[in-house]
Amino acid sequence: MRPVATSASLFADVAKENAARYDHPRYVTRNGDDEMPHTLALTETLRQHLTTLVEQIGPRPTGSSGNQRAGQYLKERFAEYGWLVETPPFDCLTWEPGIASLRCDTAALHTHANPFSPPVEGTFPAFAFDSPEALEAAGSQKGRIVVLTGALSGDPFIPLNFPFVSFEEQQRVMKALIAAEPAAVIGIHPKPLFCDADFPIPSLTVDPSGAELLRTCRGELTIAIGGKTIRSIGRNVIARPRRLPSPKIILTAHYDTWFGTPGAVDNAAGVAVLLGAAALLDSAESPVEFVVFNGEDHYASPGEVQYFTGDLGQIALNVNVDGVGAQEHLTGAAYLGEAPALFKSIRAIQADFPSVVEGEPWYQSDHTAFLQRGIPALALTSTPFDAWLERTHTAADTLEGLDFERIAEAARFVARVVEDSLRGSASD
Ligand SMILES: [Zn+2]
Repeated sequence: MRPVATSASLFADVAKENAARYDHPRYVTRNGDDEMPHTLALTETLRQHLTTLVEQIGPRPTGSSGNQRAGQYLKERFAEYGWLVETPPFDCLTWEPGIASLRCDTAALHTHANPFSPPVEGTFPAFAFDSPEALEAAGSQKGRIVVLTGALSGDPFIPLNFPFVSFEEQQRVMKALIAAEPAAVIGIHPKPLFCDADFPIPSLTVDPSGAELLRTCRGELTIAIGGKTIRSIGRNVIARPRRLPSPKIILTAHYDTWFGTPGAVDNAAGVAVLLGAAALLDSAESPVEFVVFNGEDHYASPGEVQYFTGDLGQIALNVNVDGVGAQEHLTGAAYLGEAPALFKSIRAIQADFPSVVEGEPWYQSDHTAFLQRGIPALALTSTPFDAWLERTHTAADTLEGLDFERIAEAARFVARVVEDSLRGSASD
């Protein structure tokens, strides 16, 4: 076993090489400022990518026109940085929002449309349930509206056929609802409670601000759900060096968004980190593959399913970036799975990047599918988890909430992790 690369001096020549790459014409700074000109140039480049994704393209749900434009943009950028790019297509469903209204007598409740809900229109008697047992015992709810209260409205439902994780209790509730065949089901939550084209019952989410009105509403509710589910095509964007050494590091970030959000922190910022690393790294033979997933925020994760059913090859590490760059937050790096020597070496690199700190373990993104296959993962997000997380999946996840310098620093950190693996990972 060779000693693992941990000393700062070992990276001196890497730093020099990187500096030379920063001198490439695309990094020429505008003002000739020699105080960290290269850093400024990378930050500016990533700001431009982020502006395109977040403001010019906007929402990018899998299979939507914004999603297809974003995929094309990423394909062009990776190619421009010298990488071989592949964009294998897959079939998927996407959704166009329509009316989503609920009234109690004449009072309208504040609602959040549930993407992919079948349509419904009418006035129906409403009945509330707070446990799966009560729902199962009640039998048929044909011609009624079922209102989910208490724990049944606690968390958004993991889709019926979600490939990577499911909760028994939620599956039980969804199956009881399908058996009861109500005209519609209503949940109470700040965000859509269902997003699932496989769930056949029309559904709508009432904002907690309307919960009291819903509780005191005796008798009937008038509901109208529109929206349209559409067949479409999506693509992952996969970029490789011209000669790919083995084993390799897989850098991942998802470029799709939830419906109606410009998706700045979630997850244009993660995509920008990958683009930054692609600009910094040697595209001829770095031991790295970029997989920009299309489906992390889609009910069926079609991009992930396509990737993980293929031949993954020898993977030493997954670095997944999701939710970095929230203003006034540091970048949290969670070291997950078993790779003590490799993680020791990466922690030593991390020490050179003051805005990257060791973060709490988390599993709510694409790295979990690698962990489930025994592949260790380094998962980057904004730490601590707090207010920024509430803005994700909403219209408030805008460019103004981003710290571009932190995003550029995360990109330099990720690039260094890959550079070091050229020297250190063979001993792991
Ligand atoms: Zn995300």
